[in-house]
Amino acid sequence: MRRKNSPFLIPLIVVAVITLILTVILLIPDGGGEKTPEGKPPEKNDPVTEIKVPEVTFKSSLEEYEKYMNAKDEKYLVLVNKEHIVGVDFEPADRIDVKDTPKNGITLERTAAKALEAMFAEMRANGFNNVFVTSAYRSYDYQKDTYNGWVNYEMQSITSDARKVLGDGYIYEKYTSKGKSGLDRTDAERVADSYSARPGTSEHQTGLCVDLMTSTMSALDESFADYPVYDWLLENAWKFGFVLRFPEDKTEITGYSFEPWHYRFVGREHAYKMYSRGVCLEEYVKSLK
Ligand SMILES: [Zn+2]
Repeated sequence: MRRKNSPFLIPLIVVAVITLILTVILLIPDGGGEKTPEGKPPEKNDPVTEIKVPEVTFKSSLEEYEKYMNAKDEKYLVLVNKEHIVGVDFEPADRIDVKDTPKNGITLERTAAKALEAMFAEMRANGFNNVFVTSAYRSYDYQKDTYNGWVNYEMQSITSDARKVLGDGYIYEKYTSKGKSGLDRTDAERVADSYSARPGTSEHQTGLCVDLMTSTMSALDESFADYPVYDWLLENAWKFGFVLRFPEDKTEITGYSFEPWHYRFVGREHAYKMYSRGVCLEEYVKSLK
């Protein structure tokens, strides 16, 4: 036989359900981003000083690395891009060898190198064992040789990049119709500019950034974004003072295409502020002025 319900049971259930729904709504996190009380992202002009860096915890013991990850010198905000060119003589004073690389002679500025060691220790603690550094500091001369190598290459034959950058009509008129099989220097430079950084325009000259690869990748390319470690880095790199330097949604501002493999050291505080606001280095440096 069915038991008869108490006349108070239904209103009680209704009240309980409403309370539960309200509690859940109030407790739902807002997506992790830095939000204003209205739930909108902070305005560009909000003082960045108001953003507080949360406590960080790690699976590995990284106390000895704290002073590096949390370094606060303004020099770690140096901006180098196609418009902000670094001089021939610019060279980080104190460079040390990078540990997590199979290559010889890979160096970084000391603080960035130590913070990177901490990031690698924590990556391993989270099960990411097949990541390594493939490139770090590059001198002006190295960049000059690389760039000139590509210019010479474009001067030797008409490549598909040349057709893409200069156009078939231009190439026919100036070259192929006259029996020329390679570009002159000016045109070769225009083509090389589309894929190779001119000396002095690469952030790698600062010794503050690295390119990462996994052991199953055959070349440095966008496939890095398909590995779980990329998602981990998106959420955690700031804790070690690093930021993704060329995000997918900032190509117009950075002037570089998406580079999921390239991480830049700025120190934890700046890294967290950039992460929580979703801004790239160009936007961040501008917001500080
Ligand atoms: Zn790079």
